[in-house]
Amino acid sequence: MPANGYGLGVTNQTIRLGRIFGLEISCNWTLLLIYLVIAWTMATSVLPAAAGGQSTLAYWVAGLVGAALFYLGLLAHEISHALVARLNGVRVTGITLWLFGGVTQLDGQPASAAREALITVVGPATSLVIGGAGFGLAAALGALGAPALIASLVAWLAVMNVVLGVFNLIPALPLDGGRLLSALLWWRTGSRQAGVHGAVRVGQVFASLLIAAGVLEAATGAVVTGIWLAFVGWFLLSAGRAEDRQTKVLARLKGVPVSAAMAAPLIRLPDWLTVDQLLPAGGGQAPLAVYALQDRTGQPSGFVSLMDLVALAPPARIHHRLSDFALPASAVPTADIQEDLDSVLRRVGGALERGVLVVNGSELVGILSGAGVARLAAQSSVPGWRRPA
Ligand SMILES: [Zn+2]
Repeated sequence: MPANGYGLGVTNQTIRLGRIFGLEISCNWTLLLIYLVIAWTMATSVLPAAAGGQSTLAYWVAGLVGAALFYLGLLAHEISHALVARLNGVRVTGITLWLFGGVTQLDGQPASAAREALITVVGPATSLVIGGAGFGLAAALGALGAPALIASLVAWLAVMNVVLGVFNLIPALPLDGGRLLSALLWWRTGSRQAGVHGAVRVGQVFASLLIAAGVLEAATGAVVTGIWLAFVGWFLLSAGRAEDRQTKVLARLKGVPVSAAMAAPLIRLPDWLTVDQLLPAGGGQAPLAVYALQDRTGQPSGFVSLMDLVALAPPARIHHRLSDFALPASAVPTADIQEDLDSVLRRVGGALERGVLVVNGSELVGILSGAGVARLAAQSSVPGWRRPA
């Protein structure tokens, strides 16, 4: 649940691209569309204007290569966020490239404002350094008499990386500039929630200005640019609101013990049941996120996560027993019954969806799941709600 994006948010339809430094890299289908638009723009207008007299094929090859290099620059920006996050003790679930750029999904939050600022600033800094190096390379290529098409392509890439760095510094969450502002306000006020709230309010002004500029552009003839600007502004507006809401919920859960959101008692199931017996096609009672298992002699035989079971196609559920999916206790995160919910969410991040075992001393007493936390979060937004002690 507390997955922060360093970059703009992203939807679910992603295509896996591979792994770099142990980071899962994927892209959204919108990226392919934008890749072709960039290559087309370069091949048909940018490059012919900058370096005339080349064949159509040469322009297209340069355009396709240039667009790919542009995405490598974008990837370098996101990888820098991810690596610095990891150095600062924040788990990274992956990097997704999409329509508006890239997003690095973090599992949990940095422990201090300074760490958050560091994780954030390294992205735009990387883009600006790449841009600066690109300008240097373009000048050197020009001086050495390299083909004009190649020098123009490098110069264009330099400009695009500088634009990427500067655009991301706009102080509108979830852009890097907004997150830097939020870290600054967090440092000043001592409260992360106050930081996010302040940064979102400032971001709303910038987002509204972008929308107004877009409408003005569209009205005065530059329809595509105008619609694009307004769309980005609208996106920033809604993403900022969502982040503000999420941070508020997390702040309300601060000081609330795990016991307030857990499901108890822990249910122990015979591990020889088939998946179909636990998850009948017709539904039945809402299943729990994690169950304890026991074998035929009554001995504990691990745990099973609902997420692994529902991933199995219904016809195959008859042929698999729960023991096929048994996990050792070490594979399931645990939390103490008295632990602060906010701290558990920070610690386990997205693993909450798979279920967390709740212990009281050495005894297993219940489970904590995303559904349980969501229920408590909904209750806590009702006026007059009292924080459970
Ligand atoms: Zn960034």
